[in-house]
Amino acid sequence: MAAAELPDAGPLIVLVSTRAVLTLSDDTLILSPATIAASPVTGKIVSVTAEVLPESGLPPGSVYVDHSPKLLLPGLVDAHVHLNEPGRTEWEGFWTGTRAAASGGVTTVVDMPLNAIPPTTTLGGFEEKLRASRGQCWVDVGFYGGVIPGNAHELKPLVEAGVRGFKGFLIESGVDEFPAVSSKDVALAMDTLKDSATTLMFHAEMVPAEADGAQQAAPSGDLTAYRTFLDSRPPSYETRAIEEILSLAHIAPSLHLHIVHLSATQCIPLLKAARAQGVNITAETCFHYLGLSAEEIERGDTRHKCCPPIREGKNRDGLWEELVAADSCIKTVVSDHSPCTPELKLLPEHLRKAPEPTPAAHQDDRKASSGDFMAAWGGISSVGLGLPILHTAAKQRSSSSVKAPTIMDMVRLCCQATAAQVGLAHRKGALRAGMDADVCVFDDAEAWTFAQGDMRWKNRCSPWEGRAFTGRVRETWLRGRKVFELGTGRDGFVVEEPFGESITETRTV
Ligand SMILES: [Zn+2]
Repeated sequence: MAAAELPDAGPLIVLVSTRAVLTLSDDTLILSPATIAASPVTGKIVSVTAEVLPESGLPPGSVYVDHSPKLLLPGLVDAHVHLNEPGRTEWEGFWTGTRAAASGGVTTVVDMPLNAIPPTTTLGGFEEKLRASRGQCWVDVGFYGGVIPGNAHELKPLVEAGVRGFKGFLIESGVDEFPAVSSKDVALAMDTLKDSATTLMFHAEMVPAEADGAQQAAPSGDLTAYRTFLDSRPPSYETRAIEEILSLAHIAPSLHLHIVHLSATQCIPLLKAARAQGVNITAETCFHYLGLSAEEIERGDTRHKCCPPIREGKNRDGLWEELVAADSCIKTVVSDHSPCTPELKLLPEHLRKAPEPTPAAHQDDRKASSGDFMAAWGGISSVGLGLPILHTAAKQRSSSSVKAPTIMDMVRLCCQATAAQVGLAHRKGALRAGMDADVCVFDDAEAWTFAQGDMRWKNRCSPWEGRAFTGRVRETWLRGRKVFELGTGRDGFVVEEPFGESITETRTV
């Protein structure tokens, strides 16, 4: 279509580039030149043209920015973050967590129901969370509800109130107020939600003998050796949990079941077999399982601790293979951004560079020494770093014989499918007319090293520190307004106040 055919309804925001990842009407992704016109009034994309149109002919007052040859991508939808507010705001908060997201092209995050106090396991808890988020969000924020023993009566009200899905743990969660569920609880949650448009998600690790009353064995060995921790949470924990979930799936045949942060490749055949039999189950994996490996984790470097653990390089390669397979059961890649204070990370002195915040009220009582992998808090900070991580790893993989993921794969995994996972595919995760004008401007050629000063989350501690990346987010646009531009404004932020919204619309799919 020609410039003259651009919608004639007042000034427009027009972003163009010789390279953009566009979503066609049948959901196919294409790499193409593009002219994306958005309405500053509605914040929606009004037209997408698969060529670079000139500036001339636009309505008076329009803004026209040519980003060639940088990539225009849909804003990322990170469907798994822990913002920890209210209640554990010394770990993270809406303000800092969403600033980190915005700085990395992420325009929507979905907050997990645990680690805030109260957790989002009741309607009251959800309302408290919404109040805490007000005026603090630099990107749009959706919310998950939690499934814990005894809260089945809260699940439907949470669906109505607009949670994007639910999460439960089959192993201890690490915080007392979010206990693990039994098989009976899972069955009840499935029965309660079986006719709802929602997703029931599981932290799928389970101590294999737990059903017989056995406890997780205390680890033996050097607690500062990563291997000790890795051996304490073997792949069988993940497969055991998935078997348990699949054994109950018949209770809710149409309910979407989802495995969060899948780590072990041994789970893949189980999920594929179930899907082949018609079970509506998917999985996500995380940036750290795709960009890091157990072999490279140094003694005592607890920044790498997360659950389930980062496994060996061979496992990482298996995850990549599945991700690019045509019928992959791993549909999405998310950050599982889950920070804590450096004290809880028990990082050894030589790895600490940040000024230490004062110990917090929620410092727990575990007596542990620095570098103790078993006692350190499990969680990795990475919201906003996903594109550089995937792009860099993909580039490295393109030199191997395995099929390397393309930029379209990354958009599928981090934008399109994550939006669908949380019931937001009608407005997020695609550059297409009618969608929210959420745009990430990505320079896929820029080489840079991630330093502590680049971290915008509250506690500047991450295993990605010091990593060399190829590809960097230059700008982030949220609903037609530029929020972030690297190297300008105040630390890159170019609007005075955050205007991210809490997403509470009820899911319809
Ligand atoms: Zn998580």
